[in-house]
Amino acid sequence: MQCVRCNGLMVPDRFADLADDTGQIEFGGWRCLVCGNIADPVIVANRQRPPAARKPLRKRAVAA
Ligand SMILES: [Zn+2]
Repeated sequence: MQCVRCNGLMVPDRFADLADDTGQIEFGGWRCLVCGNIADPVIVANRQRPPAARKPLRKRAVAA
């Protein structure tokens, strides 16, 4: 896997997230050896989805 920031080598790693709302404390992800960029499973899954399948984050209502 390549880093999206610097194209460096990313390696699997485990991270602790004490503030996670899901109650999950530890999760697996990827860490770039070169720049330290971190990709968690959610980020990776979103990236692998084709752009057409993505929904807009929010629809802005136009105030009349
Ligand atoms: Zn990197």
